[in-house]
Amino acid sequence: MAMMATMLVWGAGEAAGRMREVPAGIPVRIYLDVGAVYLGGLELSLARQEASRIFEEAGIRLEWSTDKPKDGESGPQVVGVRFVSVTPAAYRDRQHAQALAAALPYSTGPASITVFGDRVLPLMSIYTRRAAGQVLGHILAHEIGHMLEAEARHSPTGLMKARWSEEDLRAMTASGLSLAEEDREPLRMRFLSSAAPAAPVAASAEVARLGEEAVR
Ligand SMILES: [Zn+2]
Repeated sequence: MAMMATMLVWGAGEAAGRMREVPAGIPVRIYLDVGAVYLGGLELSLARQEASRIFEEAGIRLEWSTDKPKDGESGPQVVGVRFVSVTPAAYRDRQHAQALAAALPYSTGPASITVFGDRVLPLMSIYTRRAAGQVLGHILAHEIGHMLEAEARHSPTGLMKARWSEEDLRAMTASGLSLAEEDREPLRMRFLSSAAPAAPVAASAEVARLGEEAVR
């Protein structure tokens, strides 16, 4: 069941009886840099909406920014998303041939997600603008999921599946995929507990892939 987008709280210093609305959820700042990749405004806007919906259901509020992160701004609640026109060489091997984007969940730098424009744009082009935005939103949300879980793992169902099937793609452009319960739990542990553990440092990439069902 979806969490409500807003909750009513008492405004500090406000007269008794008056309430104001503030967005609910743990804030996570997403710095989005589309670089030289051309994305329509509608598609991008829908993608942000879709990714925000997915995390809102799990109690996380994504705050999107196209500014640059402030100097020294980092930590588990700051995620950088960078679009590149050409898939980097490291993802052009057989293993990553269907990768659309990659996340480095063990890095602490602000630009920890890379979206491969030369693979994502052709996929988006087969859809209507609205559906293309929804699919892009799921790609972004999958990688943001890796960053927020701070772990390179996949789930057998839902957004965090290792490989999306045709059926998953159809669901994305209909009611949309959600985070499985097993993906919500680590978010609760990490963000709703005051002692958020620091991410270990290692080199690893996890990617959103197209293809057959995940082999378990
Ligand atoms: Zn993945």
